[in-house]
Amino acid sequence: MSGNRAVAYKGPGVVEVIDIDYPTFELKDGPGVNPANIGRKLPHGVILRTVATNICGSDQHMVRGRTTAPIDLVLGHEITGEVVEIGPDVEFVEIGDIVSVPFNISCGRCRNCKTGKTGICLNVNPDRPGSAYGYVDMGGWVGGQAEYVLVPYADWNVLKFPDRDQALEKILDLTTLSDIFPTGFHGAVTAGVTVGSTVYIAGAGPVGLAAAAGAQLLGAAVVIVGDLNNDRLAQAHSFGCETIDVGAGSIEDQLEQLLGVPEVDAAVDAVGFEARGHGHGAAAQEAPATVLNSLMEITSAGGSIGIPGLYVTGDPGAADAAAKTGSLSLSFGTGWAKSLSFATGQCPVMKYNRQLMQAILHDKVQIAKAVNAAAIPLEEAPRGYAEFDAGAATKYVLDPNGYITA
Ligand code: NAD
Ligand code: ZN
Repeated sequence: MSGNRAVAYKGPGVVEVIDIDYPTFELKDGPGVNPANIGRKLPHGVILRTVATNICGSDQHMVRGRTTAPIDLVLGHEITGEVVEIGPDVEFVEIGDIVSVPFNISCGRCRNCKTGKTGICLNVNPDRPGSAYGYVDMGGWVGGQAEYVLVPYADWNVLKFPDRDQALEKILDLTTLSDIFPTGFHGAVTAGVTVGSTVYIAGAGPVGLAAAAGAQLLGAAVVIVGDLNNDRLAQAHSFGCETIDVGAGSIEDQLEQLLGVPEVDAAVDAVGFEARGHGHGAAAQEAPATVLNSLMEITSAGGSIGIPGLYVTGDPGAADAAAKTGSLSLSFGTGWAKSLSFATGQCPVMKYNRQLMQAILHDKVQIAKAVNAAAIPLEEAPRGYAEFDAGAATKYVLDPNGYITA
């Protein structure tokens, strides 16, 4: 038993590294813990000593004050760790295993988990289907941007890496398996990307870049990434993507220059509700329906739009009254007229993480390079959050116990 340092939300724009309790096999009361989850017994859990835990665009929505996240919420849903304690009901996970943890918390026992829909597990969040570590309205599971974290239903949830030394050697790649790589890949799969597809991905943040790498892995003929951040577009270009500056003019025109036609076979929204409008100056103000509406315009009839970008039911910081309750001004008729399909929601990480792990271990994909993963100490998390918020073309990986720097 030891103490536990962790990254906590302290109010809009502020995170701090604080002391919290070492985990136990019971969910105790704390910031954001759903009353119905307090005292929940977790004999099926394991305690991990964190090897790597990443800062995500999803964390930024909370840290920017765009959600109802409570002060002192411990953040972190992208977790890789070494098993240091196992609960009495755990059968197949062993002390010393190095494991990736899907950001979705799921029970493996409900009707959704049984059909692979682990992003909408019915048994872990009393508020609504679906849950995650360290996230507002997700049941109150303590976040993993910490030295130690508890993972419930461990036999079901964790993905064990086959070899410890190899895992530590490739840790900057493998750390993406807890969220962004499966999430980006899911975006590409649900957009229908296959061999020879032309693909547009909105957003060159880590999820968009992972979607681009995923689309390449699926055999896309051309992957075009759009953003208004030039450093991030350069990052996309660095591994073979075409790029579109959405501030520089119409996406259709830019697509036509690249492809000869103003449309693509498949499109992915890796932006979400904090989307900026297209164009310069005032046009680039936040406009939450921008990406969804533009993807309906540019996806060819009969195509699909993968939407890993996050949309919310409540946004206290929204520009207009409708968006404050999650209502967006969608030109849905465009999508209907073109028979488009839409795939939304949390990525069911478990559906993809094993295959993507194999692709990493066998050098079929260079995901750490694609997203520019960089490790920093846990104590420097506030700097990581600030730089990421300012648009750095970097995926920040926290290294709470020195496994990566060692
Ligand atoms: P991020 O904030 O780093 O990246 C978003 C990017 O979108 C930024 O680079 C921004 O400049 C760009 N952008 C804004 N408006 C745009 C526009 N109109 N067109 C093109 N680009 C635009 O976030 P991230 O970590 O890459 O995550 C992306 C989204 O995916 C977030 O909404 C996040 O919450 C969500 N997410 C969802 C899941 C899931 O399971 N569905 C998992 C992880 C993250
Ligand atoms: Zn994430």
